[in-house]
Amino acid sequence: MLEQPPQSIVHERCRQAHPWILTLDANGVPHRWVSWQHAVFYHAKDLVAWVAGSHDFEIRGGINRVTGEQSFIRTNSIIAIKGRSHAHKLQTAVPPLNNRELFHRDRSVCAYCGGDFAYQKLTRDHILPVSQGGRDLWMNVVTCCRPCNQRKSGRTPEQARMQLLYAPYVPNKAEYLILSNRNILVDQMDFLAQHVNANSRWKAA
Ligand SMILES: [Zn+2]
Repeated sequence: MLEQPPQSIVHERCRQAHPWILTLDANGVPHRWVSWQHAVFYHAKDLVAWVAGSHDFEIRGGINRVTGEQSFIRTNSIIAIKGRSHAHKLQTAVPPLNNRELFHRDRSVCAYCGGDFAYQKLTRDHILPVSQGGRDLWMNVVTCCRPCNQRKSGRTPEQARMQLLYAPYVPNKAEYLILSNRNILVDQMDFLAQHVNANSRWKAA
């Protein structure tokens, strides 16, 4: 694990000005989002193998007391990091299950009535209820509005005579990166979309 980037490299006022940077491993496999501070750290340590995005960002640093010149580092919306490969994890790793990413996976649509709801009006429905042995896993959960959740209660869809309008699935790493960042740049989205599984609702969109 790498140490955190030294904060002194950059101006604090730049903090809000840049989106998350998508990092890839040395084979070009999507890995994770990092802050621009962390990206600057990778550049400073010569750990960036190549850049793949269409957006460059210039991060200005301190002014040299002798020369009076201001230092800067250029980074990019997508950067590949030298070192360990994560290719084996792309298709196999199961991302953590959170409501935010679950609702995003299901595009905020209730799996029972098909309504489109705001985040606060949605719940996590366990298709096989926990009270009947159902587990809290991507494959057993769907997005559900509060009225439908109350109506279904502790029953299976069959027991409640409610039909599931779409199937659950486990998002892969690339899709999880899409689901977990609401401010993705177009080039980052295009890149990640190429690595999303064919069964993804994001593939069909
Ligand atoms: Zn509903």
